[in-house]
Amino acid sequence: MVRIGLGRDLHRLVSGRRFLLGGVELPSPVGEQGHSDGDVLVHALIDALLGAAGLGDIGELFPPSDATWQDADSLHLLAIAFDKVKAAGWSVVNIDAVVTCEAPKLLPHRAAIRASVAATLELPIDAVFVKGKTNEGCDSLGKGHAVEALVVCLLERA
Ligand SMILES: [Zn+2]
Repeated sequence: MVRIGLGRDLHRLVSGRRFLLGGVELPSPVGEQGHSDGDVLVHALIDALLGAAGLGDIGELFPPSDATWQDADSLHLLAIAFDKVKAAGWSVVNIDAVVTCEAPKLLPHRAAIRASVAATLELPIDAVFVKGKTNEGCDSLGKGHAVEALVVCLLERA
């Protein structure tokens, strides 16, 4: 059996924060505002995995009201979510993602981002892909006020 999952997240971009995608820090004068480290790609990925397995969502697993997750490393949260998905008998087939922001450019960091996510999910690098897009200057994303991630994943269970 296979199941598909979809996740979406958005974070405001503010000064004094790191700009993280998939656990990789990109050089940027602004970064993601958030209760945890704000890694928008990892958050969308967690929702895609949990959704595909029918195991809830990121807000249920890691409530912002719980101080445990203050400034949490999102890759650590991903590892916890992945353990739950594995415990339910699922393995990940592949991940595909789109990250939208005006800056910084994702492409120079794509290999590192793919490697980081693949390592956390015990996948070969070719099973993880991510594309960077701009919003052509439109709306909050295009004005550089926010970054958005969309992620789909495929799970399979024997
Ligand atoms: Zn988030």
